[in-house]
Amino acid sequence: MATMKPVPSTKVVCVGRNYADHAKELGNDVPTSPIIFIKPISSMVAHTEGIDVARATQDGQRGALHFECELCVRMGKPLSQALPAQVMDSIDAVTLGLDLTLRDLQNTLKQKGHPWERAKAFDGACVLGEWLSVDAVEDFTNLSYQLLVNGAERQRGDTCLMLFPIVELLADISQQFSLAAGDVVMTGTPKGVGEVHAGDELAMVLQDARWVVEAR
Ligand code: ZN
Repeated sequence: MATMKPVPSTKVVCVGRNYADHAKELGNDVPTSPIIFIKPISSMVAHTEGIDVARATQDGQRGALHFECELCVRMGKPLSQALPAQVMDSIDAVTLGLDLTLRDLQNTLKQKGHPWERAKAFDGACVLGEWLSVDAVEDFTNLSYQLLVNGAERQRGDTCLMLFPIVELLADISQQFSLAAGDVVMTGTPKGVGEVHAGDELAMVLQDARWVVEAR
């Protein structure tokens, strides 16, 4: 797959509970419309920068840090108030990413009904692989990817199992707020999320592309 140049983004839009099995593993209801939230650009890092566990958790004071491996798409042009049929043409690149989450803190925030940013928007919380041309993807509704931790498969995503397929997701997001060229959408995690420990090697695998993220 051809690698694409990085371009500036204005935001990262994330989707919660887009795979029923993951909603269940965290004891959440399956949503009837996409759950969306935004990570700031300051959270975005290349996979080569790795994960600083002590910094993210403040030396463990903020509880467990979890990985969530997700298929990510990048906008090649703006999208606003779009219909699903208008979406595919707006995507220019694809990669895998980690929606890093301070899970204990997120649970506390959820119980209080507070926003999740303290648990999901910290520096380094959005780890991205290299961008690949969208031309390499034959069918966004039938694409699989894996996350291996220390060589063992921990997560496997199959887009055919998404509750809200990518075109529906982006159309819905574009009805809430405009997506700009360069914006990134993380499309939700499959089941198998777990804790990141210093010394772990996380490998994100999409077809013949593989990105290794070192936790320290
Ligand atoms: Zn996520």
